Amino acid sequence: SRKTLTAVNPANDQVLGEHEMLDDAQLAEKLDQARSGYAEFRHLPLADRRQRLTALADLIDQHQREMAEIIAHEMGKPFHQGIAETQISSAIVRFYADNLESLLKPQSRQVEGAQKAEIVHDPMGAVLGVMPWNYPLYQVVRFAAPNLAGGNVCLLKHASNVPGCAKYITKLFHDAGFKEGTFTWLPIGSDKVEGIVHDPLVCGVTLTGSEDAGRAVAKIAGDAIKPSVLELGGIDPLIVLDDADVDKAVELAVNGRFDNTGQSCAASKRLIVERPMLERFTERLIDRVQTMRIGDPMDGDTEVGPMSRKDLRDDLHAQVQRAIKHGAQLETGGEVLDRPGAWYAPTVLTNVAPGNPAFDEELFGPVASVIVADDAEHAIELANNCRYGLGGTVVGQDVKRAEQVARRLEVGMSFVNRPTTPFAELPFGGVKESGYGREQSEYGFGAFLNVRTVYIA
Ligand code: NDP
Repeated sequence: SRKTLTAVNPANDQVLGEHEMLDDAQLAEKLDQARSGYAEFRHLPLADRRQRLTALADLIDQHQREMAEIIAHEMGKPFHQGIAETQISSAIVRFYADNLESLLKPQSRQVEGAQKAEIVHDPMGAVLGVMPWNYPLYQVVRFAAPNLAGGNVCLLKHASNVPGCAKYITKLFHDAGFKEGTFTWLPIGSDKVEGIVHDPLVCGVTLTGSEDAGRAVAKIAGDAIKPSVLELGGIDPLIVLDDADVDKAVELAVNGRFDNTGQSCAASKRLIVERPMLERFTERLIDRVQTMRIGDPMDGDTEVGPMSRKDLRDDLHAQVQRAIKHGAQLETGGEVLDRPGAWYAPTVLTNVAPGNPAFDEELFGPVASVIVADDAEHAIELANNCRYGLGGTVVGQDVKRAEQVARRLEVGMSFVNRPTTPFAELPFGGVKESGYGREQSEYGFGAFLNVRTVYIA
């Protein structure tokens, strides 16, 4: 019997569908198709690449509702948040469509002895994207759009729990003119990644996901001497300074922490509050979280849906219980909801400090951790007391002071008065164990291109 990927609706445990996985012969065939796809695609005129990317952005815009619905069904994202995901996704595709000609323009240099010296960007082959389920569309276009713009072809190994998303996304790419061989979904398990990375066609691998998966894939890439980009999550701080408007701070913290049911790499996982604000902030945060609308992801009012999978929900609950054992105080939530599906009550923990699992570990779900800081210096020290460094937010009315604090965070993305938010024009990525490399903007462009020197004496 053939192996399958099974999609389960985490809102009610219903099986949505089975998707056949590739056997070894089929995988080899797909790689051969990508080989011939690349041989052709790399020579496609830039205007045609641009036209296809524009078509893809248009298709994403036209199919927002269908895409958001599949995402809601397969991983539980509230529908209106899925619509927002399609919007940032088409913006990224459009950014590369609009800029690929200028990004690829040869740069001349005046150098000694040369009648001509140029830097050009050439494609190198197929890029393998190993992608997670939390933003099933955005994560895919984030790696695929710049690579297709640069003339590479794409191989997608999507997370096992979102095969319907992978299939639908693939159809959008194909309909836009990026045919099988140029954009190829590989319905496979992670055990096949190593062999693919070693294939001579493959010029690099990019992974978004857990640290364990990142380490495994980076080792494979190192062994194959191929470049990798890793985006591995974080335990991002959101610092509330003592001059913050309390209501605004709570709203930003709730958006930053509970959007996507808390399952974002750059979510505001540690709410670090200056002591004079602590009581007022915490009180309102608890009130707000207690009244969050939990429910059917397809319902327009829903703020918090189910988590993506029961095993991840159970892992989260175990972390919350360990946090409490280590001294965190449970203010609300902290329980598995007694109904079919992967539901977890929106949770607030206070009295969280270094040494507590809610401070030191990534809690990938709807759990807010409140940490007290004596003053702004202490807040910075606490924020930087972290092995990750993805994003960080500072909230305060004195914007200059907030900016000074934000610039001192050891992160790849500093935000003032807004939770970490992706923009096509700005780089996305982290420092420390959050990974390396950047996506989006011009910095997300060159990772898998050959920056070639051409010198004519
Ligand atoms: P994983 O990191 O395991 O999955 C992400 C992707 O990596 C999937 O496509 C997965 O495939 C693949 N993968 C996993 N292990 C390997 C491996 N050894 N070699 C090659 N590919 C691999 O995430 P999970 O879904 O298991 O979630 C676990 C935790 O990861 C979360 O609780 C969260 O902490 C973190 N995470 C972080 C994300 C982020 O945005 N940075 C996104 C998702 C999760 P497959 O699905 O087939 O296992």
